[in-house]
Amino acid sequence: MTVKDEPARAAVLGWPASHSLSPRLHGYWLRELGINGTYRAITVGPEKFAGKLRTLAAAGYRGFNVTLPHKEAALAAVDEVDAEAVRIGAVNTIVVGQNGRLLGSNTDGYGFIENLKTNPAGLDAGAIIAGGPVVVLGAGGAARSVVAALDNAGAPEIRVVNRTVEKAQALAHDIGREKGAAIGVFSWPERETALINATLLVNATTLGMANKPVLEIVLDNLPADALVTDIVYTPLVTPLLAAAAGRGNPTVDGLGMLIHQARPGFNAWFGAWPEITPGLRENILAAAAC
Ligand code: NAP
Repeated sequence: MTVKDEPARAAVLGWPASHSLSPRLHGYWLRELGINGTYRAITVGPEKFAGKLRTLAAAGYRGFNVTLPHKEAALAAVDEVDAEAVRIGAVNTIVVGQNGRLLGSNTDGYGFIENLKTNPAGLDAGAIIAGGPVVVLGAGGAARSVVAALDNAGAPEIRVVNRTVEKAQALAHDIGREKGAAIGVFSWPERETALINATLLVNATTLGMANKPVLEIVLDNLPADALVTDIVYTPLVTPLLAAAAGRGNPTVDGLGMLIHQARPGFNAWFGAWPEITPGLRENILAAAAC
């Protein structure tokens, strides 16, 4: 085999990495597009993470996804970080550039917005966000990406609701107001008050996920036309989405965010923008349910 015929290689690094759906996702696209490439899951501990990135890059890998617990460490491990990843405080995608330079970015916010745009009701997600207030439940890593993306997309007001208020305050401080959104902090008992006049409700907590507690929230204050999305995708229809749909609110599930956030990395490593098809969603869901 000549160097030219060698497969393009990429990988997800985590600790562990075996649970990651990324190999299945990228593998599906590689097969569909007939690309000579491989995508592996590599388990590596925190002390060896930065060195492993360099070793793999030197061995010819085109890039990486980064999953728990390395997303924050990846900020310092790469040579260059884009502004969005700095703002969020985490890197989830790395491209190996010229001379082995590692370029870090965060595509979760992109995935979140692209997923909203494909809402089944065909609503104008941009208008919904710009017509805010929008409500984000949670202040963890995923919520930071979501809030930054909503600010970028023109939300006038973002209400961040979190059990640990200090974390929501830190999020508002770190992410806030770059594009002008007013970020308000609400305590967990205030979550139903935060719904008044909202155009969008996002669950970015772990609540409602399989094997986690249910998200307990009464939606009476939420306008009937507000869009509701849950970034939890196991189960696909979370109790929040079921309750929202039951009272007539349009909804978007979280699987599309997972798939969309993977597309920029795939394009950078393998040279094509992959499609999101029903077959892909079914394939990923089958694995997610295991
Ligand atoms: P994380 O950093 O651990 O944050 C967890 C969040 O959930 C925090 O806000 C936490 O509140 C809140 N929470 C946990 N238990 C709670 C409880 N009993 N009551 C109230 N709030 C509670 O996790 P993450 O990385 O942000 O991920 C959050 C969820 O998003 C996960 O289910 C993850 O799978 C999903 N996710 C989906 C995508 C996608 O592509 N669809 C991408 C990323 C993440 P405290 O701050 O008070 O602890």
